[in-house]
Amino acid sequence: MKKQVILFGAPGSGKGSQAKYLVKEYGFKHLSTGDILRAEVKKGTDLGVRIAGRIEKGELVSDEIILELLQANLDLDNNSYIFDGYPRNLSQAQILCEKLLANYNVIAIYFDIDVSVLTKRIVNRLVCPDCQAIYNRISHPPKLGAVCDYCHGQIYQRADDNEETVVSRMKIFQEVTSPVLDFFKEKGTLHTMNAADDFDNIRERIKKVLDNV
Ligand code: AMP
Repeated sequence: MKKQVILFGAPGSGKGSQAKYLVKEYGFKHLSTGDILRAEVKKGTDLGVRIAGRIEKGELVSDEIILELLQANLDLDNNSYIFDGYPRNLSQAQILCEKLLANYNVIAIYFDIDVSVLTKRIVNRLVCPDCQAIYNRISHPPKLGAVCDYCHGQIYQRADDNEETVVSRMKIFQEVTSPVLDFFKEKGTLHTMNAADDFDNIRERIKKVLDNV
């Protein structure tokens, strides 16, 4: 049965960096709802204009909009996906696991980390808009200064990666998103990683999970 992987964790817990590796290693397609939403905002579509304010404030976009965008970007018959940033609440989890992925082997990987350490990570995070590579000003700065090491895209800081917005994003994670953990546990699909560990160790643990399920 085709594998579909859900990376689940607070903003800045390392999902995006591991996703990039898994895409390269296993050929998964990376489906980040945050990336899809930011692309709409950047293109200035009607939808992009409508959702920009919510994203900037760190609030969730409506389930209906997310589902519509998801369906427009999914081709489950032909691909295995890494879901990154989705589901964000219980109703998204039910739609994903009980409807969209009902006939697939679903693996949920939880990036477990104390949210209090994430603020510092996020306010120093830099990203490449072209290949989505993730850097950190302090622990992993881009070698070439303002351009991406891999594709030479112009590195930038996300508008919602500031201290004020991070506080509300973390609050939403704790209050609305983390209850989804129990949902995954009950389904028997949850694998927990210590997300404070270093990148290579987490990568190896994920690899073991994927190779054995
Ligand atoms: P992310 O890149 O996953 O940190 O998401 C950035 C922002 O996009 C979030 O703070 C939300 O405003 C919005 N967003 C991303 N994914 C979702 C989702 N599954 N449901 C609702 N809003 C989302």
